[in-house]
Amino acid sequence: MSTREAPSNFIRQIIDADRAAGLNDGRVATRFPPEPNGYLHIGHAKSICLNFGIARDYQGSCNLRFDDTNPEKENLEFVESIKEDVRWLGFDWNALYYASDYFPQLYAYAQDLIRDGKAYVCDLSAEQMREYRGTLTEPGRDSPYRNRSVEENLDLFARMRAGEFEDGERVLRAKIDMASPNINMRDPTIYRIRRGAVHHQTGEAWPIYPMYDYTHCLSDAIEGITHSLCTLEFEDHRPLYNWFIEQLDVPAKPKQIEFGRLNLEFTVLSKRKLTELVREGRVEGWDDPRMPTIAGLRRRGYPPAAIRDFCERIGVTKSDGTVEMALLENCVREELDRSAPRAMAVLNPLKVVLSNYPEGRVEHLPAANHPKDESMGSRQVPFTQELYIDRDDFMEVAPNKKFKRLVLGGEVRLRNGYVIRCDEAVKDAQGEITELRCSYDPDTLGSNPVGRKVKGVIHWVSASHSVAAEVRLYDRLFLVPDPGAVKDRDWHEDLNPESLRIVQARVEPSLAEAPPEARFQFEREGYFYRDHKETDRLVFNRSVTLRDTWAKIAGGGQS
Ligand code: ATP
Ligand code: MG
Repeated sequence: MSTREAPSNFIRQIIDADRAAGLNDGRVATRFPPEPNGYLHIGHAKSICLNFGIARDYQGSCNLRFDDTNPEKENLEFVESIKEDVRWLGFDWNALYYASDYFPQLYAYAQDLIRDGKAYVCDLSAEQMREYRGTLTEPGRDSPYRNRSVEENLDLFARMRAGEFEDGERVLRAKIDMASPNINMRDPTIYRIRRGAVHHQTGEAWPIYPMYDYTHCLSDAIEGITHSLCTLEFEDHRPLYNWFIEQLDVPAKPKQIEFGRLNLEFTVLSKRKLTELVREGRVEGWDDPRMPTIAGLRRRGYPPAAIRDFCERIGVTKSDGTVEMALLENCVREELDRSAPRAMAVLNPLKVVLSNYPEGRVEHLPAANHPKDESMGSRQVPFTQELYIDRDDFMEVAPNKKFKRLVLGGEVRLRNGYVIRCDEAVKDAQGEITELRCSYDPDTLGSNPVGRKVKGVIHWVSASHSVAAEVRLYDRLFLVPDPGAVKDRDWHEDLNPESLRIVQARVEPSLAEAPPEARFQFEREGYFYRDHKETDRLVFNRSVTLRDTWAKIAGGGQS
């Protein structure tokens, strides 16, 4: 992958200033902290590129840390997929940790807080806690359990840990300030009871689980993270983050910095909604090529370099923003235009018989693999009497002057081949065209016909030498830029019913050897990816069309 530095942003400026001031001896340590409760999506890619990119450019380190404090929602499939997706994006972690690795240490820290009179066991029910918490405009009230003695708190907390109480019966809370204007500081819960849960790492060892706000800052401190980058919704949690760090005798003092979340048009990036799409069977799974998940984009054929390029181009700012899908698709087009070899595939085959071409003859015509990159070499495409062209490339009569394809009595050049003329369109009883009778001009291989201009060029394959392939034409998952934005209208109603169309194509024989994960430009059709799950059959997924077909519909691609 590229080692060039990403452009500067406000986070890099903070890091530069911290280094100039000699903080952390100039060391930079970041982490990417996903919760293994779903697959990673393009929003996570932004965070991954940011955290790992900073570590790379400052000769620092970036850890992968699973934020695994909700055992009911998490599992090993998600853990494995996250590791795979981070690596596939082109990054490698300094060290891999689980927040659950720190459960014993976090428990000891909680006991320290209790001993210092800064945490207490509270017996209020969840509903009572809500009532006591107050609102944005009203202060909260102290819990009647707030002034328990240190001894009683230590004893009750030990018994919570021993599994003596039911879920919800008691919690451990930080003792901060019930009148704080910041609700996060009103004696937040730091431990809750989950007796029945089986954790994917720690099994049934712990009947109590620490809360995110308590776990995250201390995990950062334990790992010696210097800059803890998170999304904007945690800005109001920063005082709490700092409070725990200040109260406890921790090995490092990390700094939390918030940045804007990525939102992308024509899709959803909420894990809850993505989970629903999978559960309800609206898509084939987390790696369905229409999903904005890393696994889905991968199966769609998006190259990791295009995703990294996209993350660089959107930049990092201190406000949430919505990015046009067209920007992501353009990054994919640019990368594939550069790197994908060309090939010919006929998606909607119509037979062409060349009456003046000798039956049984096979010519192997040379074809460049890339028009702008000779180093990609060339291949040979078999040319025979019977060919397939795309049905859309023929009309009996041209509908308008822009139609530069084949018409009855007209001529067209076959890409990498000869000029042909259509002499007759053969039809069945229903009037459907079943075959074209054409003639070829033997003097037009690699040279222009004499005395006339042939403007159109179409792609083709040999009928006898081409191979069958299933082609999956994927399109955007939603019909509108902001699914669910219309009031009282369920976001499911915005799903695009035509987000997948499957066709049986004929492709040039060289494609039979395409290994899974190979990417191509099918000339005049778009960019395609040999599916890596269908290994027994030839299946190609459309990554992106050659041009932005949505620009016209959405009014120039502007939202
Ligand atoms: P959840 O709804 O489960 O909290 P989450 O989107 O916050 O989901 P995490 O697994 O907690 O998911 O996220 C891991 C990291 O990725 C966090 O640091 C989070 O801020 C970042 N991240 C998640 N979604 C986005 C997004 N859309 N844009 C930028 N960063 C994101
Ligand atoms: Mg989260």
